[in-house]
Amino acid sequence: MLSAMKPLIGKVLTAQGPVEPAVLGKVMMHEHLHSDCYDWDKQCLVDVEKPIEPARRELLMREAIPPLRACNDHGCHAYVDVTPPPWRAWPDFMVEASAAAKMHIILCTGFYCEMNDNEYWVKKPADKAWSFMRTASLEELTEFCTKEIVEGQHGTSIRAGAIKLGGRNPILSPLEQKTFRAGARAQKATGVHITTHCTQMGAETSQLEIFDREGVDLRRVVIGHTARHLMDPERRAICLEWMKRGANFLPTNLGIGADDGERWRPLVEAIHEIFDAGHGDKLSFGLDWAFVSESAPFGACTFVPPPPFLHMFTHTLPAFRKMGLTAEEEDYIMQRNPQRIIPVQ
Ligand SMILES: [Zn+2]
Repeated sequence: MLSAMKPLIGKVLTAQGPVEPAVLGKVMMHEHLHSDCYDWDKQCLVDVEKPIEPARRELLMREAIPPLRACNDHGCHAYVDVTPPPWRAWPDFMVEASAAAKMHIILCTGFYCEMNDNEYWVKKPADKAWSFMRTASLEELTEFCTKEIVEGQHGTSIRAGAIKLGGRNPILSPLEQKTFRAGARAQKATGVHITTHCTQMGAETSQLEIFDREGVDLRRVVIGHTARHLMDPERRAICLEWMKRGANFLPTNLGIGADDGERWRPLVEAIHEIFDAGHGDKLSFGLDWAFVSESAPFGACTFVPPPPFLHMFTHTLPAFRKMGLTAEEEDYIMQRNPQRIIPVQ
């Protein structure tokens, strides 16, 4: 670890500065206040970060901040904003949002997936990934992430407190292998945690293998979007082997629809099994609520039901508790585990 990070051991790096983990309360581990990946007017990938425009700021202040602020009423005082550059909001807006919502926000540095042909906004090869991921060397990517954590984003002193890395398919593309290695090296230099995009079965293993090869302590890694992985008995057995080695798993997109959440019953049962196996300390939750432009002009997402962010407390957790999630399990998932994972170590 870099000597500049050593005084921060045990502290959480938030948009408004370092805090003690106990003040986080419950934590949502995977949300997006601003994920602007594609400009639908100009029909091009958002490839450069710039300060937020007034209309965009007003939209978020009106639609996102009030429900985010209301999460405090449920004991949730923090969330991890997993949008990577260049699609994040400008850091000064994230500080403003954090103050307005009275919410500690852990910002991410890092790199999203390399998209496949023809999915979401992708119409041409240049749309598939941020150009910097292609043009920069492994060393330059490592330095970029490290600097955003040690010094701050865009010349400010507003620091990232986590590293987001995305893998699109079960096997990482050569470009993703480079970004994962860079993120791994930045993790070792800074001690913050890594959180991943891992929607595909098998991706958990290729992602964790590359972290392991780079010498990352797997206790510092959270494998995201893994509800399906944990509900599938065969894949759950593989995930449990990785949990034995320290890796953490993060089910997301836990929206409760017209079925009252019945489709999540196998997840609640899987959670009991993971607790029984002694690995309940490896689980956390996120909704993946997003203000986003991946499939339409920027606005509230449609892949998780409203209310934004607050849905976790008004819908998801009550439904899970009704299906048998215990108060103790919820306490580990929402509070104890995040408070252990997020601080610099
Ligand atoms: Zn996400």
